[in-house]
Amino acid sequence: MRFAGQVALVTGASGGIGKAIVAVLRAEGATVATTDRAGSDFDGDLMDAAFCDALPVRVADAHGRLDILCNNAGIITRGQITEATDDDLRRSLAINVEAPFRLCRAAIPIMAAQGGGTIVNTASCWGVHPGPNHPVYIMTKAAVASLTQCLGRDHAHQGIRVNAVCPNEVDTPMLRTGFTTRGLNPDTAIADLDASVPLGRIAQPEDIADVVAFLCSDAARYMCGALVEVNGGKPVT
Ligand code: NAD
Repeated sequence: MRFAGQVALVTGASGGIGKAIVAVLRAEGATVATTDRAGSDFDGDLMDAAFCDALPVRVADAHGRLDILCNNAGIITRGQITEATDDDLRRSLAINVEAPFRLCRAAIPIMAAQGGGTIVNTASCWGVHPGPNHPVYIMTKAAVASLTQCLGRDHAHQGIRVNAVCPNEVDTPMLRTGFTTRGLNPDTAIADLDASVPLGRIAQPEDIADVVAFLCSDAARYMCGALVEVNGGKPVT
């Protein structure tokens, strides 16, 4: 029960990786406040700046404290820059970058007043090593990685550890919808991807959530600003 007595806030909690993060934190004793567009404890749109600014305080008011923030929600825009619309750009920056920025900015004073806390951002291996044909998505994930490194350094003295998990492919609705949109059978496409991973399979959400839980836990007490790649041995090519 690594998180007994702790309160966590998880964004994108209804999604593939989000559900797994919520499950592992709850299984180990945390009280988890979930947020997503629907079906969560605090439903809302992360494109709504006022919603993001207020959410950490609302969670702390509801549960008495805030120990863990997982900025996990995200969207992916596929295709080269010449295919990207203004709306793609605006939404990607708002959901993938501005929302974590606002949530961190609001959560850090609460954590500092408590004597510490931990933030885990879901970046991507592509945020560290850019892959092809996804510049809008990749630059947002690079921004999340950079924000993580900055905050990891700036707030360690307050007992606040900020780290990021950087997955390669994970079997979630985000990945599967991408295949469907491109007219591919998701199961076949994932089987092909499995063959490209040295460990023999792409990640399941739990593979990522377990690393998030580790980063949230006291076992990672000396880690600040780390970008932890979780890739089954598959580098970005
Ligand atoms: P997912 O689509 O299953 O889940 C994303 C969740 O974010 C959804 O529940 C969605 O409703 C929520 N969300 C999106 N826009 C929102 C908004 N405006 N307001 C509120 N909630 C919103 O995807 P996932 O694969 O679980 O992705 C989780 C994170 O992991 C993302 O940040 C993604 O970029 C990252 N990631 C995923 C992969 C992968 O292969 N699946 C790889 C690397 C990184």
